[in-house]
Amino acid sequence: MASRSSSSTAAGGSDSPQKPTKTKRTRRKTRKARAVGDMSRQMGESHRRFLQTMMVSGVIDEQAAKALYQYCCETHHTQYAPDKLEDFIDIINSRLQPMFMQIRKGMSEDNGLQYYALVNMAETDITRMSSDYADNELELFRKTMDLIVCSENGKASSTDILNSTDSMTTRKMKKSETEHLLSRLVHDKWLSEKRGEYTLSTRCIIEMEPYIRTMYQDHVKVCHICRNIAFQCQICENPTCGIKIHNPCVARYFKGKSEPRCPSCDDFWPHEIPEVKRPHSQSRR
Ligand SMILES: [Zn+2]
Ligand SMILES: [Zn+2]
Repeated sequence: MASRSSSSTAAGGSDSPQKPTKTKRTRRKTRKARAVGDMSRQMGESHRRFLQTMMVSGVIDEQAAKALYQYCCETHHTQYAPDKLEDFIDIINSRLQPMFMQIRKGMSEDNGLQYYALVNMAETDITRMSSDYADNELELFRKTMDLIVCSENGKASSTDILNSTDSMTTRKMKKSETEHLLSRLVHDKWLSEKRGEYTLSTRCIIEMEPYIRTMYQDHVKVCHICRNIAFQCQICENPTCGIKIHNPCVARYFKGKSEPRCPSCDDFWPHEIPEVKRPHSQSRR
């Protein structure tokens, strides 16, 4: 099985990879028999189409994923059940596993919505980007990541990033080159930018979380509410507490509370509570 350890991100293709001789080795423990019949565990045309779309977009929000799921099932006349998206993705993931890829879910720190990203699990560190970026570009991306991860608010200003080129060990980058690189990183969905400030994109966090947790053990904190890694967030000002909560999690947690208190130490929560953002149409609460 390990014969196809292709590291290319373009794995998968339209041809179905070898007949699954071993897939029946039921991995029940984790996938606790989610009432999916045996037949439907086969990857069909609908799954393939879903995967192909994911390969093009890289990351899509939950609403788009649901719509895409429905579209793929209807187009290929396969059974569709609105609440079975996770099972549908599990089937794709079971076939992606030998290629060290996975469709993984994670929250956007901007709007609190769930997103699905197609991630490469073979190389979770920055070297996986080396086919698209030169060494000095990767060095600067690393420096940008350092700035973001070690900051209080999960952001790095363009000025700070430009200044960090001074300490580069690979070929130093000019201002214009740095600016060009930053816009490429935004375009490729590794970074997000708002008013000259850069944050890690949702895709980057979903994909690189294991790497970030290992590399920045001393700096990384998880959100007290959702337990995911937290960059853009609010911090409890009690020095003995100092928990972090994502902005969207703050919004949801403190909604309607007149005197917000820290869920850990019970001190007054002194920050402005953001509004709960909703996905445009469906207003599930
Ligand atoms: Zn959170
Ligand atoms: Zn606290």
